[in-house]
Amino acid sequence: MKRIFSGVKPTGHLTLGNYLGAVRRWVEVDQHRSEALFSVVDLHALTVEHDPARVTRLSRQAATLLLAAGLDPRLCTLFVQSHVDEHARLSYLLECTATDGELRRMIQYREKSVRARESGDGVRLSLLTYPVLMAADILAYGTDEVPVGEDQRQHVELTRDLAVRFNQRYGQTFTVPRATQPEVAARVMDLQDPTTKMGKSHAEGAGIVYLLDDAETVRRKIMRAVTDSGREVVYDRESRPGVANLLDVLAAATDGDPEALAGGYASYGALKKDTADAVVELLRPVRERHAELAADPGYVHGVLRDGAERARGMARPLVDRAYRAIGL
Ligand code: ADP
Repeated sequence: MKRIFSGVKPTGHLTLGNYLGAVRRWVEVDQHRSEALFSVVDLHALTVEHDPARVTRLSRQAATLLLAAGLDPRLCTLFVQSHVDEHARLSYLLECTATDGELRRMIQYREKSVRARESGDGVRLSLLTYPVLMAADILAYGTDEVPVGEDQRQHVELTRDLAVRFNQRYGQTFTVPRATQPEVAARVMDLQDPTTKMGKSHAEGAGIVYLLDDAETVRRKIMRAVTDSGREVVYDRESRPGVANLLDVLAAATDGDPEALAGGYASYGALKKDTADAVVELLRPVRERHAELAADPGYVHGVLRDGAERARGMARPLVDRAYRAIGL
């Protein structure tokens, strides 16, 4: 059976972008058709300034939200990355496989290192090596497919390169994985600045819809989304990014096609209203399940403990094999 791995960083509340770009497919497709592992990748949250007192709580919150979104521990393995030592163990071997040059080329590194430098905190070395740890996350499980949003494609490409290089140098060890992304809404944009992605680690703002936002908040954010001064509803991501983003979200929420939907609207107001209604309906069951799960922290704890045990059992033999292959 196909093996799937994907993850989220516990860097804030999950957003509509995380949901449409990744999580919804994990729930609706991946966990049913594959042997699927999903991880709250907490080590990745340490690459920029973080609050030690909050990391564990944020991981627990992210896991609770993933369960609320519909991940079912009977169908998939859900765990916290730092509970499984194999990720860090393998990451070192891959650091000995990757080059400084290929990591410096990563778009996310270039963007985030500028921000870290500006903040005066200095650029943590882990920000540069983060894609190598991500490669370890994926390769440790013999993963075939990595369902992610568009922003992660470059990192999965690097993962492929490292797997191929390692295999060529030290003998066949890793499966070479491939990224998959949704047809629409692979990159949901910030509602207030449709030229940047809706990111959960960005400062909280009116442009970000969180999975637990109540109906009124979702409506307010979407109705105030920045569009442009045009009137006609057309789907053009280049010249009309705000409207295209709303059409993408509406299409994803209603299983429609953004270009076809555009033809049915005479005004931005009507498009915003339907988009808001569709998102409210989409998120309603998540909010309801979340309220039940939040009242039962013992359950989430148990899921994560069992998940880590299962994940360890899968990763250990493969990572041991990689150590032997490299000569240790
Ligand atoms: P973030 O960038 O919001 O901190 P993560 O890096 O934890 O999110 O990513 C979790 C998953 O959500 C990844 O598969 C990522 O590609 C996807 N994702 C994140 N932001 C968006 C977005 N705005 N649109 C679509 N997918 C996204």
